[in-house]
Amino acid sequence: MMVHTTERRTTEDRLAATETLPLSERVTRLSDESVLEVEDFHAYYREFRALYNVSFQIPARKITALIGPSGCGKSTLLRCMNRMNDLVPGFHIEGQMTYRGLDLYARDVDPVEVRRRIGMVFQKPNPFPKSIYENIAFGPKVNGIKGNMDEIVEKSLRQAALWDDVKDKLNDSGLALSGGQQQRLCIARALAVQPEIILMDEPCSALDPIATLKIEDLMRDLAKDYTIVIVTHNMQQAARVADYTAFLMMRPDRAGELVEFTDTDVLFTTPKDKRTEDYITGRFG
Ligand code: ADP
Repeated sequence: MMVHTTERRTTEDRLAATETLPLSERVTRLSDESVLEVEDFHAYYREFRALYNVSFQIPARKITALIGPSGCGKSTLLRCMNRMNDLVPGFHIEGQMTYRGLDLYARDVDPVEVRRRIGMVFQKPNPFPKSIYENIAFGPKVNGIKGNMDEIVEKSLRQAALWDDVKDKLNDSGLALSGGQQQRLCIARALAVQPEIILMDEPCSALDPIATLKIEDLMRDLAKDYTIVIVTHNMQQAARVADYTAFLMMRPDRAGELVEFTDTDVLFTTPKDKRTEDYITGRFG
């Protein structure tokens, strides 16, 4: 029986073959202020490696998009940024994530405090089955945030461009709002506990185009004060909203690796890596 030479190549050979340019040329090191540094980061679901050796920095008060084909680890990477994956049995990491100099995975770090400073908005809007007011007030209450609650609620709703829609019905259920309004309510809820970073996991994928554009406008507005990291499967969305974009792709062993990270304009016009070019021109994924 004939054995193809490709079949005889070891896994290491095949992995090496995916690395075109040195990492330092594919991953832009920021000259701007960064809030989160990801260093030699690997993530595992039990034995399965979902992320391989990811290193880059998240710039402060900018929008960073994570893009790449389904299953390449975008969501995993995002969820690691506020230790959301701690709750998954068998999940573990290697390497480092440092938030303003603090190792997020150090033993003495409280994941609840991490999630207050680094908030999250999910794919499907998930307001609590409570009033609009209570949706916002709950977080500040349990986190012991001081101040006038009415003011906190109003400020958060204003920041999420929702105040004018809901100011006369704060006691109505959050679930009575439209999909786009519900997502803005979830953003307001995230803002109410005074985070520095907001992680968004495909926040528009359940919304119509008008509601999507409203969220994108809101993101641009919020980026004046907050750092935003967004996972999106929609390249146009990344091109529209993100200042920086990270492109991830699966290696032959299915672990996601960071292929390229740079200014969004540069990534979409003059990518350095052939794999980025193939992806953004629609050759795969
Ligand atoms: P993406 O967001 O790019 O679609 P994910 O981060 O969701 O990718 O998934 C990356 C890989 O990790 C996939 O192979 C997926 O099947 C696997 N994975 C994600 N979540 C879990 C989990 N809770 N348990 C086991 N494997 C998971």
